[in-house]
Amino acid sequence: MSEVIERLAAELADITLVRDPAQVTRLSRDFYWFSPILKNLLDDKRADLAAVPATQDEAVRVVAACARAGVPVTPRGLGSGNYGQAVPLAGGLVLDTSRLDRVLWVRPGAARAEAGTRMSLLDDAARASGWEQRMLPSTFRGSSVGGFYCGGGVGIGSNNYGMLKDPGNILGVKALSMHAEPRIVELRGRDAVDMHHAYGVNGIVLEVELALAPALPWIECMASFADFDAAVAFAQALGEADGIAKKGISAHQWPLPRSYRPLKDVVVAGESVVMTLVAAHNEGAFTDLVAAMGGRITWRNDPAAAGAKRLTLREFMWNHATLHAIREAEAQGVAPGMAGGITYLQLGYPAGRNLELVRRIHEIFGDEIVQHVEFIRVKGAMTCSGLPIVRWSDEARLREVMRRLEEEGVYIADPHTWVVEDGGKKSINPRHVELKLAMDPAGLINPGKLRAWDERGVAQKKSVFWDS
Ligand SMILES: Cc1cc2nc3c(=O)[nH]c(=O)nc-3n(C[C@H](O)[C@H](O)[C@H](O)COP(=O)(O)OP(=O)(O)OC[C@H]3O[C@@H](n4cnc5c(N)ncnc54)[C@H](O)[C@@H]3O)c2cc1C
Repeated sequence: MSEVIERLAAELADITLVRDPAQVTRLSRDFYWFSPILKNLLDDKRADLAAVPATQDEAVRVVAACARAGVPVTPRGLGSGNYGQAVPLAGGLVLDTSRLDRVLWVRPGAARAEAGTRMSLLDDAARASGWEQRMLPSTFRGSSVGGFYCGGGVGIGSNNYGMLKDPGNILGVKALSMHAEPRIVELRGRDAVDMHHAYGVNGIVLEVELALAPALPWIECMASFADFDAAVAFAQALGEADGIAKKGISAHQWPLPRSYRPLKDVVVAGESVVMTLVAAHNEGAFTDLVAAMGGRITWRNDPAAAGAKRLTLREFMWNHATLHAIREAEAQGVAPGMAGGITYLQLGYPAGRNLELVRRIHEIFGDEIVQHVEFIRVKGAMTCSGLPIVRWSDEARLREVMRRLEEEGVYIADPHTWVVEDGGKKSINPRHVELKLAMDPAGLINPGKLRAWDERGVAQKKSVFWDS
């Protein structure tokens, strides 16, 4: 392989390449280490080199050269994925897309950007035209549009617009195939959704087009409640309060807020909190609801006001809650995977049973699980996703916890696997294999991530766009 890599590097000498082992290692990693299981399995995985194309034409040249040489390519946005999605399992080249970072256009209700564009920059551009992203991952400052499309799926705003995959959120995608002469496809609507959340295995994404929401002035608020039941009941009521415009509703069970050092002066010992962004014109109605449901507002920030705090509650929502909890445990000398350490799960609660299930989890697991739930609209109904912090004993115990949760009717998107189908998707999507056959017949993009590809039958021979 090293000879092949040397020839590849020589051929691509006029493109920015990264060969320094420490840099290549950094570009071969994401946040897989949140999982003690993945940490053990992925720590030694790295690419042989990375390329950082400055233009789409350069990206085409890199992909063409790799396809000719049979070198695996792992596309990368900004490396904030959670499950080793962007970790190269078979060496080869990391395609760092971070310099493909142009916002191409913003029009009423839609925007299009190159894959490496930071989520926050696309949001800024949209807001300059009176629009904003429908949902932002809590990593909006450190993740890319292409990475969110290929690796993410929900975010701050999912209480209004559901999951990214829900019809109407993704409008289109431009992707590059892995051929000696790469082909470029533009997928629209449903086809564009088929390529989403497949960890890039179905094509190198060059551009993504997303639907937008009208921009509103948001006030960030945190309300504190005597116990988690009261906090979750309020969060549900807020979600269902159709007249109050809000973006993100996030409930955190005590003692989780104790880990939030930047908020240490405003969290109240023993109390659970709800964080949200409420539209400025609805702050009064919001405040009334907090009071009616037994809470009180302990933190408020108007990011647009003079003297606003730089701290944003958005960086405590979704998996940022886990990040803060892990950092706090580390500060106490307990790294992920150490005895007494912590890890996490990703749960989905069926609408209508979510409050009951949140209570039930506490009854069954006590302080082995500290809950944190994010409210999300699913087929019009308000429910929640959970990213609970779980005390780490060993893998067997974690699997037992997951089995028990499933028995109760909780859906699990396992964050301790890099396999697409074993994580969120659960079932094999035949479109994934069809797309991969069309876009990457030799199986060189991010190998090892798609079970359906690795186990495909010989009958699947026909490509969806062209005959491979
Ligand atoms: C603290 C924390 C909080 C998070 N919060 C959220 C959240 O709120 N919502 C959410 O959905 N996720 C969340 N995530 C996961 C992650 O941040 C998102 O999935 C993010 O949008 C990924 O973007 P990225 O640029 O970092 O992608 P990367 O990690 O670089 O890549 C993600 C996947 O996409 C592939 N990929 C990247 N770019 C391309 C491309 N151009 N073409 C083809 N494939 C590509 C990679 O190979 C990889 O498989 C969180 C993660 C952390 C660590």
